[in-house]
Amino acid sequence: MNKAVFTKGARRKAAKQHVVPVPYKNGLVPHLFAPTFRVGHPLVDTVENQRLRDYELTSKARFDRIETLLPRLQNMVGLGDFSRSANAILQAELGFKLPDKVLAEASVGGLNLSKLYAQCVFEQYLAFSQEFFEQDPLKGQQTAEVAEVFQSLGYHSIGVAPCADGRLAHFVSYILRLPYSLVRRKAHAGALFDVSESVRNWVFTEHLRFREAKPNAANEATRYLKIASYHFSKSDPHHQGCAAHGSDDTKAARAALDKLNAFKQAIEDRFGCGATVDIALLGVNTDDDSLRVHIPDEYGQVGLADYVDSHLLYHQTLNLDAEQARAVLVDSLRVSHLRKRVDKAANLRKLLAWLLERNLAQIDYVHHYESGCYSDIGHAERFIGIGNGFSEVQLRNLTYYSFLETLEEGLDDVKVGIKIFKKLNLTKMLPIPLIVGFEYDGRVPGSKDRAANKAKRIAGLVQQRFAELSATGMLHTMCTLRDYSSHRPAFRLDND
Ligand SMILES: [Zn+2]
Repeated sequence: MNKAVFTKGARRKAAKQHVVPVPYKNGLVPHLFAPTFRVGHPLVDTVENQRLRDYELTSKARFDRIETLLPRLQNMVGLGDFSRSANAILQAELGFKLPDKVLAEASVGGLNLSKLYAQCVFEQYLAFSQEFFEQDPLKGQQTAEVAEVFQSLGYHSIGVAPCADGRLAHFVSYILRLPYSLVRRKAHAGALFDVSESVRNWVFTEHLRFREAKPNAANEATRYLKIASYHFSKSDPHHQGCAAHGSDDTKAARAALDKLNAFKQAIEDRFGCGATVDIALLGVNTDDDSLRVHIPDEYGQVGLADYVDSHLLYHQTLNLDAEQARAVLVDSLRVSHLRKRVDKAANLRKLLAWLLERNLAQIDYVHHYESGCYSDIGHAERFIGIGNGFSEVQLRNLTYYSFLETLEEGLDDVKVGIKIFKKLNLTKMLPIPLIVGFEYDGRVPGSKDRAANKAKRIAGLVQQRFAELSATGMLHTMCTLRDYSSHRPAFRLDND
């Protein structure tokens, strides 16, 4: 369907005027010539999209208001009780107060805007985390319905490895529309996830099935799904692609696929059950959140050349009814030479079609709210997050988030983040706010203390490794912890 002919405006107008397509003599309406003028896509819940949009705008605005508020605070220094009047403004405009001590220190000898900015970002993050876990704005704690579909399609667990790039931070909740608490997400620069760590987590997952039948019993023939997602920018492929792969799409896709194959192979070699793991390679066009879904062959193996483009599918299915649209998605993943052979990837294909359907909602979102292409096609993250936490970060371009357990292993990722923020923040004379966040298991004695020690150690190492930025006040860190055994928010471990 030609988008230029049936624009969103035309469809809305038609819907308003109750335009009914004129049937042909035989009673059929050939949709190529007489579109039904639907408002929105048949597989998209526009009310849900509006809810997600409200959350995105409100949350980001709270971070963005910090920068505009600083000059007002600066003008108040020396005029009466600074802490009191500053906190009155902070509370009214941003919804939090800073400790008097922080404000007093920041106002010695004129206002230390750098420190104040970083502290405000940190407080905003804590408020953001609290809202996320206590109010569940994305309904990501409601997993029953999706988990049921997931299991009916033959899968019990899903692990996702996106790039650490902030333009993929909404991969789970927005691009794939999955409940965050159902998905294990570990982000790495270039989607270069740690195979050994992923295997360890897989063992943990399977052990839970044996011991507690969670999420289902180990004798049920469901599989574990591992997704890796590389990314690219269609509108500016040489500059806005993946920084970790020099904006080379093929290199990024190849690297992610190699990791997936290594993961599956490791489970086969060590445990002899590689067949219980399926892999999926997804490419994200960060301009509009559409996906390249790489088509598995009959053995579930994935190649780089064969993929479907969800953006094309969105337009191809725009004027169909829901059932027809679903059939087109399923059909798009069919491999013609399968007819006489056994298709061991039949479930994977069904699952990918289901993910495609969910992604159409996000394409519709970007079409509706961003005119089909984000205005911030490049980086626009508000802070860096490193560690193993940050489940609450489900918004595009909010955070450069990199999963790491030690700085030695994660240093390259952190360097990419610092490089991005040198351009984003230092050019505006704003410091780089970096949060070291770790989760612990509140049920396990000593877990909290171990996480605290690790967070402090890594924060110290970051300060040492980027000593120049630290010494000039252009890099600030905050350590946070979170008990992942419940829906509790992150809390601050110490002050910068
Ligand atoms: Zn990347």
